[in-house]
Amino acid sequence: MDGKRLSLLKEKLINEKSRLEEELKEIEEGNLSQNQSETTGENSFEDNFADSGTATFEREKDLSLERNIKDLLSRVNSALERVEKETYGKCVMCSQGIDPARLKALPYADLCIECKKKEEKNW
Ligand SMILES: [Zn+2]
Repeated sequence: MDGKRLSLLKEKLINEKSRLEEELKEIEEGNLSQNQSETTGENSFEDNFADSGTATFEREKDLSLERNIKDLLSRVNSALERVEKETYGKCVMCSQGIDPARLKALPYADLCIECKKKEEKNW
């Protein structure tokens, strides 16, 4: 892979990383303020009861979103590690070069198309 393409992809990864960290922070801050309002104890029992269904739903939505973001973030971080180790752009399974078009669409891709297909078959 040539240096120019690599630095472009690295930039993409760094942008993606800060975007994900920002989203994660927003979710965590959102949860924090929600928890605080739940523990004030100023609402009557009926108010709490009526709200609890939606609150649980919102919380679960946040949790799965948080998991997705953390998952993506760890992929982005390991891609950045591979940039440092100069193994970026190679498949972690078979060491073949990953298709540049694939990397352009998915800068944190760590498997070539062939290995990805194999992995999906194993599921
Ligand atoms: Zn491979």
